[in-house]
Amino acid sequence: MDEKQVIGVDLGGTNIRVAVITASGELRERSHAPTHAEEGPDAVIRRIGEQVEKVAEQAGLDKDVPVGIASPGPLNPRTGVVLYTPNLPGWRDVPFVETLHRQISRPVTLQNDGNCGALGERRFGSAQGVDNLIYLALGTGIGGGIISEGVLIDGQHGLGAEVGHVTVAMDGPRCTCGSVGCVESFASGWAIQREAEAVATTADGDAMRKLAGDGNIHAGIVAQAAREGDPAAKLILDRAGRALGAVMGSFVNLFDPEMIVFGGGVASLGDLLIEPAKRTMQMHSFFDMREGMKITYSTLGADTGLYGAGALALSVFGEE
Ligand SMILES: [Zn+2]
Repeated sequence: MDEKQVIGVDLGGTNIRVAVITASGELRERSHAPTHAEEGPDAVIRRIGEQVEKVAEQAGLDKDVPVGIASPGPLNPRTGVVLYTPNLPGWRDVPFVETLHRQISRPVTLQNDGNCGALGERRFGSAQGVDNLIYLALGTGIGGGIISEGVLIDGQHGLGAEVGHVTVAMDGPRCTCGSVGCVESFASGWAIQREAEAVATTADGDAMRKLAGDGNIHAGIVAQAAREGDPAAKLILDRAGRALGAVMGSFVNLFDPEMIVFGGGVASLGDLLIEPAKRTMQMHSFFDMREGMKITYSTLGADTGLYGAGALALSVFGEE
C-alpha cells in the first residue's frame, strides 16, 4: 500500500518553502520562492498556491492530497484566518485557508509555526513517542508549543500557547507584544542583541565591539565573546538563561512534561544559555516533576517548519 503523503508549506517573512512529506518523514520535491510580503496577502497566497501545485505535479499527487501550512501568528486555526502578523506587513484578518482553497481545491489546514514545531518534533524529531512536551523555539523572538497527553494545547481560539510571552518580571523590559517582562524580552535574539548593544557603549563591551568590527553586535557575537571568556558577554547570556529557566520551571509545574525541546537559531548557543537555564529551573519547579524530565535540542533544523506543516496535515486529515 502506498504511504500517506501530504504537502507542507513553511511561510516565513523572507521565503515560502514547500515540499511533499511522507508519513515516515521523507521530504520530496522541495521548492521555494521569495515571500515578498510587501505585495500583500493576495499575492503571497497566490504564490503559495503556485508552489503547492508545482510540487504536487512533480510528485504526481492526486487532487485530494491535503496541505498543511505553518505560518507566523497570531492566527485562528479553527477559522483559517490570520489575525495579524508582525512578520508580514499589511496582514490583518486574512482568510488564508479559504483563499488558498479556492485557488487549489485541496483540503487546507493552518497553524502557527510554534505549534507546528511542537507537532513536528513529536512526529518526526527529538520527541517521537513523547505525549507531554514543551517545545521552545528560540529565534529572533520566542515561540513554541505545548502538547499535553498527546493533545496540542491551543485554547478556545487556537491562539495559544504563546510561550514566549509568559511574564518573568512584572516590571521588566517592554516586549514586542506590547506587554512588559515577557521571557522574550530577556532571552530572545533581539533581547540579547539589545543588551549587548547597551553594554557595547561602555568599556565592558570592548571585546564584543572588537569581534563585531564594522558589523552589528548580535547574539552570535555575544556567544563568540563568551566562549573566549569575556565576562560581560557571559553575564548577558547568563541573565537570558536565568529568565528562560524561570519560565521552564513554571512550565514544569503547570504541565508535568516528559521533555523540553529547544529549537531555533539562539538554541545553538547551547550550554552558554541552557546551563544557567537548567540551574534556575531547578529553583522554580517541583522535584518530582522535573526529576527524569529530558531537556534536548531539535533535530529538524532548518526543516522544522516543513516537518511541522506536514505533521499538522497528517494529524488533521488522518493517516489512513
Ligand atoms: Zn511579550
